[in-house]
Amino acid sequence: MPRAIAVHGGAGNIPESLRPEHNEGIRLAREAGRRVLLEGGSALDAVIAAVIVLEDLPAFNAGYGAVLNAEGYIELDAGLMDGSTLDIGAVAAVQGIRNPILLCRYVLTGPHILFAKEDAARLAAAAGIEQVDPRSLITPRRLEQWLAGQRSLRVDSGAPSSPLSAQGETHPPADTVGAVALDAAGNLAAATSTGGINGKAPGRIGDSPLPGGGFYADNLVGACSTTGWGESLARTLTARRAIEGLERGLTPAQAARAAIDLLGQRIAGGEGGLILLDRHGRFGAAFNSQRMTHAWWSEVDGEGVVA
Ligand code: ASP
Repeated sequence: MPRAIAVHGGAGNIPESLRPEHNEGIRLAREAGRRVLLEGGSALDAVIAAVIVLEDLPAFNAGYGAVLNAEGYIELDAGLMDGSTLDIGAVAAVQGIRNPILLCRYVLTGPHILFAKEDAARLAAAAGIEQVDPRSLITPRRLEQWLAGQRSLRVDSGAPSSPLSAQGETHPPADTVGAVALDAAGNLAAATSTGGINGKAPGRIGDSPLPGGGFYADNLVGACSTTGWGESLARTLTARRAIEGLERGLTPAQAARAAIDLLGQRIAGGEGGLILLDRHGRFGAAFNSQRMTHAWWSEVDGEGVVA
C-alpha cells in the first residue's frame, strides 16, 4: 500500500508575520509523521507524532499556545480516530494537558469515546501523561490577543465582558491543527487538536472532538481532519461529508471542495477547511477561509506545502 500523511495548521486569517512559523511548523509536523510511516509505524502513530509537533509549537492554537476563553484560561479539545477499527478517543474542554492528543490515544483504547473537563484531565495520571499548570500553556501572543479582545468588548458595549457577551464577540478561528495518514498496511487515521476560538464561552466545546465534525477515518474510504468555525462544521458534519464524497466516487480534491461548498451554502457564515486522504493515498484539501496552512506527502500524489 502507498503511504501518505497530510497535516494542517488551521483555517482562518493567518497574519503575514506568522506565516514563516506556520510554514516551518507544518513541515516539521509532516516530517515527524512521514518518519513514523517510513520506519514501518502505523497511521495512528503517524498522526499523533505530527500533531504533537504542532501542539508543542507556540504559533499554533493547540496545546502550548492555545487561545484563551472569555474568562482568560485555556480549554482544549481534541479527537483521534483509527480507521481500521473505527475506534475513537476524544477529550473536550480539558485543562493543563500540553498534548491532548496523547490523552485521546489513551481514551481510544478504552470503552468510551469522549471525556470532558476535569474528568478528562484526571485520566492523564492513569495514562502516564504529565499534567502541567494550565497557565504554563499561555503564550505572550495569546495573552495579548485575549487582552485586545477584552478591550474591544469594553469599547463596544461599555461594560466588562461576560461569557454570553463574549459568545457574540469571539475572534475568528485560526491555527487549529490536524493530521491524516495512510500506512503500508492500508490503515487510515485522523487527528485534530485545538484551543477552540479566542474568547469563547467557558465550557464551549467545538467540532474538533466530535467525530464527523472535526475528524473521521474509515479504512474502507478515507480520512479527514477539519478546521474553522466549529459550530458550522459540526452542524454540517463536514468531515463525514467529505468521506461521503469519496464514497460517491469523487476524487479527494472534489470531495473536499464539495464538503466545503456545502458548509458555505447551508450555514450563514459557515467557514472552514479540511484535509482529506482516500484509501489509495490520494490527497485533497479545500477551504473557504482566507487561508489554510497545510502540507502533504504521498507515495502516489507527491508532496507540497501551502502556508
Ligand atoms: N474548529 C475549531 C473550533 O471551532 C477552531 C479552528 O479550527 O480553528 O473549536
